[in-house]
Amino acid sequence: MSAALATAPLLPRLRDAGAEVVLREQRPVVQHVSLVPAGLLAEARARRDDLIAELLAEANIEAAYLAAERAALITESEHGDPAAPVSHTLPPSWSDATVEPTAGARCFCCRGASWWCEASEPKGWRCGRCHPPVHLAPGQWRETRT
Ligand SMILES: [Zn+2]
Repeated sequence: MSAALATAPLLPRLRDAGAEVVLREQRPVVQHVSLVPAGLLAEARARRDDLIAELLAEANIEAAYLAAERAALITESEHGDPAAPVSHTLPPSWSDATVEPTAGARCFCCRGASWWCEASEPKGWRCGRCHPPVHLAPGQWRETRT
């Protein structure tokens, strides 16, 4: 393994391979693990602490964005729809389904403005371009355009 590889961020490479990576009870959990090349998976296991650090950094950024979005939602519900939507960015996915993207929201990865959430038992909002709902049948998810 080269020195460059040994310090390269793991999250984007795992996601590029098609895996979802989440932090559950302080432990990184890789979903769709069968899509990840064996070498990359071995590296992720060996560099577990790095992966945790990457996930925590992302969670901190996400928390900041979501706090702003929640404030925007509260403002909207108190004052009605703002006349001019304010352009702002959101992470490509988050697990709090009650934080619905507001007008002007753009994905900070792809600048996309289409978001989806499960129609029943919502697990959170995701960018339609970064995380398309390919595993769900039409009608199993709802979309909002911002
Ligand atoms: Zn996106």
